[in-house]
Amino acid sequence: MKPFDYKRAASAEDAIGAAASGATIIAGGTNLLDLMKLEVMAPETLVDINRLDLGQITVSGDGLRIGALVTNSDLAADKTVRRDYPVLAKALLAGASGQLRNKATTGGNLLQRTRCYYFYDTAMPCNKRDPGSGCAAMEGFNRIHAILGASEHCIATHPSDMAVAMLALKAVVEVEGEDGARSIQLDDFYRLPGDTPQHETVLKPDELITAVTLPAPVASTQIYRKVRDRASYAFALVSVAAVIGMEDGKIAHAALAFGGLAPRPWRNDALDRALVGAEPSAALLEEAADILLEDATGHGGNDFKIPLARRTLIAVLEEATK
Ligand SMILES: Cc1cc2nc3c(=O)[nH]c(=O)nc-3n(C[C@H](O)[C@H](O)[C@H](O)COP(=O)(O)OP(=O)(O)OC[C@H]3O[C@@H](n4cnc5c(N)ncnc54)[C@H](O)[C@@H]3O)c2cc1C
Ligand code: SF4
Repeated sequence: MKPFDYKRAASAEDAIGAAASGATIIAGGTNLLDLMKLEVMAPETLVDINRLDLGQITVSGDGLRIGALVTNSDLAADKTVRRDYPVLAKALLAGASGQLRNKATTGGNLLQRTRCYYFYDTAMPCNKRDPGSGCAAMEGFNRIHAILGASEHCIATHPSDMAVAMLALKAVVEVEGEDGARSIQLDDFYRLPGDTPQHETVLKPDELITAVTLPAPVASTQIYRKVRDRASYAFALVSVAAVIGMEDGKIAHAALAFGGLAPRPWRNDALDRALVGAEPSAALLEEAADILLEDATGHGGNDFKIPLARRTLIAVLEEATK
């Protein structure tokens, strides 16, 4: 690990000022420190935000406001989350391990980096780590890589379980920077790789995530299904977050989001629209999978994700609509 300076922020302004001068924010450190040890990231200064007052979960209007420093363990255990947003609690508990969840924070989880092996291996070309160097995964071992939304420059997947559930819940990210505060729909927060895979979100370098807000809960069945290589302590090959409301035998509300498939937590408006107002049937669920996978492209090692995503989506919809 390269030497670095360390300072503790006493206020949000302090953290924003330090970030504007090039410091890297550290929260739980569970992703950042791993990357620093491997010298994938080598910040000259860390600014620790753990003393800021961003650790509260509060009812806000009809919804919920989750401070950026709320840990994944506390969020999964929160009574309101378990009752009104169970897809979020399930996604959090499907991620990492108990010890990691005790340190991992809401803001850090949204900004964790890809688990692409070549991104972690500084001896290999990687456009995300070293723009313009190439993508070793394209012709390499790409079993865990993206089948949707990727580009010729990067086929890495986004690893967060929490963000997938938050996307299905239509969460909003609150940020503060030198130009003030702004709210960003989570759906607009992540960028696709295109020819600049190093830019993963719309966050500016001086911006601090302060909270995530969830809108009022909808009457629904909520499911998070994660398919992975081991029963615990493994990232998703495919995951589906579903928030499905039924009325008079028809689907009245449908919000689906997917992990493991794309460089960002993925959703598809056309898929949600095809479900709303329809009566569940085998044909409808096949049609939903066709819509999701219309543009899916495998890269050899990950071709299996296309039928796996189809089966997982259909199984989740069968369960949510019965
Ligand atoms: C072995 C292992 C297994 C794991 N398995 C899973 C899994 O199955 N599913 C899953 O979803 N995750 C998994 N994780 C990832 C884990 O959830 C993340 O490492 C964690 O959520 C990151 O949060 P953190 O607070 O530790 O972030 P940090 O490591 O502190 O920071 C991560 C990034 O976010 C930035 N940052 C942090 N907070 C803010 C803020 N408020 N504003 C602006 N920038 C900020 C930092 O600068 C850094 O770039 C795993 C991790 C490990 C090590
Ligand atoms: S898939 Fe993306 S992160 Fe992985 S090697 Fe290629 S450019 Fe790097």
